[in-house]
Amino acid sequence: MTIPGIDRVRRTARRVTNMFVSRAMILLYHRVAELPQDPQLLCVSPSHFIEHLQVIRRWGRTIQLGKLDQALQGVDRRRHMIIVTFDDGYADNLYNAKPLLERYDVPATVFVATGYLRCKREFWYDELEKIFLHTGPLPDTLRLKINERYYEWELGSDANGGESFSDWNVSRKDDPTVRHCIYRTVFQILHPLPDTERQKILEYLAAWAGMDTASRATHRTLLPQELIRLADGGLVEIGSHTVSHPVLSALPVAQQVDEIARSKACLEEMLGHRVASFAYPFGGRSHYTQETVGVVRDAGFDWACSNFAGMVRPNTDRWQLPRFLVRDWDGQEFAHRLSQWFRS
Ligand SMILES: [Zn+2]
Repeated sequence: MTIPGIDRVRRTARRVTNMFVSRAMILLYHRVAELPQDPQLLCVSPSHFIEHLQVIRRWGRTIQLGKLDQALQGVDRRRHMIIVTFDDGYADNLYNAKPLLERYDVPATVFVATGYLRCKREFWYDELEKIFLHTGPLPDTLRLKINERYYEWELGSDANGGESFSDWNVSRKDDPTVRHCIYRTVFQILHPLPDTERQKILEYLAAWAGMDTASRATHRTLLPQELIRLADGGLVEIGSHTVSHPVLSALPVAQQVDEIARSKACLEEMLGHRVASFAYPFGGRSHYTQETVGVVRDAGFDWACSNFAGMVRPNTDRWQLPRFLVRDWDGQEFAHRLSQWFRS
């Protein structure tokens, strides 16, 4: 049953509540970079990032994630509180994002998957892009056996390569070539697999495509000494993002404990101080369980960030802080989104 005018009453109630309750907005970025293609929509270009920082400075009071408790108890509700975070630990966070954060004096937290700090491999979804979405030739047929299931694709004329379709991304409904269809399907198949199994398949795929698995300069992750430089100065705080960036809900609890505890210990050893915050890889509600939340709490973190939209209020679950995912918008679009989010 719908009560006439109930939505208007709810909106008014929310506006009145928003006037009296401190709220914070956590933004989720991944990369500050300009690449020929970005199928997972992870990049914000440096020029757009500058525009975002200008909007953030104009609109909000920026705080460190570690100051969230204090900030939510504060009395200055005239200015919006904004927290900037980055997930994964790409090298561009040091070279492209940090100088701009410094220029605009905006603090940030970077959540790092520690298994990638030394391995000289790209994130598995970047490797998939490298294997399937280039313009050179590939073999005619791809056969895969994963978890006792067989998959086979005929690439037909798309085996020859050609057009780049550089503006294609996974949010689009269409797949312009068989390669895009395979990329999308293999992504879904690999997504829940344990890391060792996934790595084996990636090595097989790289050999099939005639490629090496060394990281491209444009897609590499932070090195240990770069992590330390990123944290140097205190404007950027480092948080944990597990070791291998798995879907935690797909792992037995013992492996989740290992992923979470080992990542924290690794970062603390490198940085020489306690690491207080965590972000769930992928971060949707299906990507972790209540047991995962307990593991994170018991591991000694103060906060954990998720990846679903929402404002943070004093009564928000500190182990599942919502965040707003930011895309490569110009300043005008970013400001428009921000105003919508603040009203939510
Ligand atoms: Zn991530």
